[in-house]
Amino acid sequence: MSMDRIYEEYVDRIIKFGAENERTRIALDRAIDSYRKNRANALKKFPHTITLAEEVRKIKEYSISHMDELRKSACDAIEENHGHCYLAKTKEQAYSIFEDLVGRNKTIVKSKSLTSEEIHLRQFLESMGNEVYETDLGEFIVQLLNTRPMHILSPAINIPREDVARLLSDFTGESIPPDIAKEVATVRKILREKYFKADIGINGANVISADTGTMFIIENEGNARLSIGAPPVQIALIGIEKIVPTLNDAFKTAEVTWRYANYRIPAYVNLISGPSKTGDIEKVTTYGAHGPRELHVVFLDNGRSEMAKHPVYREALYCLRCGACLYECPVYAVTAGHYGQQYMGGIGTIWDAFTTVGFEGAAPEAYTCLRCGRCKVMCPLGIDTVTMVTQLRKDLVSRGLVPQPVREFAEEILELAKNGVR
Ligand code: SF4
Ligand code: SF4
Repeated sequence: MSMDRIYEEYVDRIIKFGAENERTRIALDRAIDSYRKNRANALKKFPHTITLAEEVRKIKEYSISHMDELRKSACDAIEENHGHCYLAKTKEQAYSIFEDLVGRNKTIVKSKSLTSEEIHLRQFLESMGNEVYETDLGEFIVQLLNTRPMHILSPAINIPREDVARLLSDFTGESIPPDIAKEVATVRKILREKYFKADIGINGANVISADTGTMFIIENEGNARLSIGAPPVQIALIGIEKIVPTLNDAFKTAEVTWRYANYRIPAYVNLISGPSKTGDIEKVTTYGAHGPRELHVVFLDNGRSEMAKHPVYREALYCLRCGACLYECPVYAVTAGHYGQQYMGGIGTIWDAFTTVGFEGAAPEAYTCLRCGRCKVMCPLGIDTVTMVTQLRKDLVSRGLVPQPVREFAEEILELAKNGVR
């Protein structure tokens, strides 16, 4: 697609489906209020999180400087635990690994993973004739809508309950009222049988330790533990930036992630280091007890090593994907995830430039950011998105990739975002 076409489509989406959509605004207003109250309560109850976040920043700085070495250690640990480990340098390599592991005509249950969204894994698996169910409630709604997630953690943040009721009524053929508890119960009923029918469960991870090969999957719904615990085969797709040196580092990283993601304590933290096993009969270790008998871990590079080499952009790899910055961004507050191509917000602009649409595709996003710096203030790790976006603009100018009408668009966004400042 030409740069001008990318630009036109992006502007159309961000203005028409985001800023001028009243329903998006209603849903975002509700979500932002709820997030702020919950985060304030969580930090009041657990004030040590602030200093813990400073420690996690140092862990991430070290980890990103030693990504390759940590990935090799993590793979050794996973293999020692009787799992299988792979490295996909590109999206195409990831597809090829999944094609070999999954094959065709399988039923798959999948828990939420932005890394899988990055490479459109569900769509790829479906194109091979597999039946794939997103099991996170928000992702399930996004799948039914055939759209993309609008927030790092709350994929359907822009869909008000009234729209969800209509969508579920269409899907089930029953009349579902706009009552959130009834909507949740409906999705529970739809997905319940799928977990035990599925051949394969697919998951991402919030963090993984190199010394023990233990992946942490933070969740509230219980869908992740069902989708990775019930099927006979588990496959994890994990970005190489998620690896930290030790299990203790992973605990610290996970705690900061969930606290800023809105949780005092999440309902579940799943720790998985290998396939299920038992030694209960004569102390003979046998794999495939009640949980999956196979575990495959696919590490994805897809531009991350390039990002790590750059003195400014490498900071984007520290991102915990807690989503805190999005709730405070004045542009996001009026546009939701339309501010972005695959990833979202200012931090997502850098991720998009390296992993999904390239510098050319990310150009409109670079000029959507107001460079106000609110995201840095709200980020637990103090990630400096403004400096990265400024660097991206400089690189776009030097590569001749700035679309002609970009200045007028930036002014229009500034006007719209004034409504988003709260
Ligand atoms: S600097 Fe950009 S991404 Fe960050 S809060 Fe401001 S507008 Fe949003
Ligand atoms: S940039 Fe910071 S606040 Fe935003 S998602 Fe990443 S870690 Fe969270």
